[in-house]
Amino acid sequence: MSKEIAMPSRTKEILEKHGFSFKKSLGQNFLIDINILNKIVDAAILSDEDGIIEIGPGIGGLTEQFAKRAKKVEAFEIDGRLIPVLKQTLSPYPNVTVHHEDVLKADVKSVLERMEDVDEITVAGNLPYYVTTPIIMKLLEQRLPITRMIFMMQKEVADRIAAAPDSKDYGSLSIAAQYYAYPEKMMTVPKTVFVPKPNVDSAVLRLELRDTPPVYVKNETHFFQVVRASFAQRRKTIWNNLQHNLVGKENRDVLVDALKEADIDPQRRGESMSMEEFARLSNELIF
Ligand code: SAM
Repeated sequence: MSKEIAMPSRTKEILEKHGFSFKKSLGQNFLIDINILNKIVDAAILSDEDGIIEIGPGIGGLTEQFAKRAKKVEAFEIDGRLIPVLKQTLSPYPNVTVHHEDVLKADVKSVLERMEDVDEITVAGNLPYYVTTPIIMKLLEQRLPITRMIFMMQKEVADRIAAAPDSKDYGSLSIAAQYYAYPEKMMTVPKTVFVPKPNVDSAVLRLELRDTPPVYVKNETHFFQVVRASFAQRRKTIWNNLQHNLVGKENRDVLVDALKEADIDPQRRGESMSMEEFARLSNELIF
């Protein structure tokens, strides 16, 4: 039986055999630590009837571990040079399908429809760091019929997603992600487990999707506009941020009334406000 793809010596062999050169612009840092891969797989798959959607399989190191434990794996890889490599490395695993597509443009829903015969579905991957946030937000906003997401990402982004009010990492990304899911940082990961080594530390984040949002909002688009505007300049008060970035001077009175109705002191900063308070405020702030 051949060595596992993610073992450093096998990875090196595969890269050399195909004359593969890493593209920094595609966030290519491959994992070469089987222990870490197994921790991701343990958190992603609860039974051998489960399915995985993987983003960015690279040469297939993580995909192989998923394939051994899941019923089905559907993977999206943007880099055409990796498609023939994956065909070879993953040939022992008939339960894997690789789609040569940019996940940001792909119709993930239609791939999910082909997974009706699995129990739970997890979306997972060692994400390309340059598009971590757009990928996560696209998947969350689509309200896909999935149970959870487990991603390796830049540690700083994981901290921001999982942050609570009154912390330096708390911001519009925390609220957006926590509106759709319960985030949990599972572990931090050193640079040494990747080739090539990235410049930043990484972390594995699990997002269990919520059945319903934790707060009632009348209009989600408006709610997220209020949240984003409130954090536009972190050091400014909620009053200044909302007046300058959303409401405008002409609607000053509307802002005064909405803050009053929502029982929020205009001198507070966005970072001190809970999601519940943002929901109350956005529901009152009609102009
Ligand atoms: N899963 C492999 C591993 O852990 O060793 C590779 C992870 S590497 C950090 C990210 C992978 O995502 C690369 O293979 C890269 O080509 C791919 N990728 C980058 N942007 C992508 C996109 N928009 N859609 C799909 N795959 C993408």
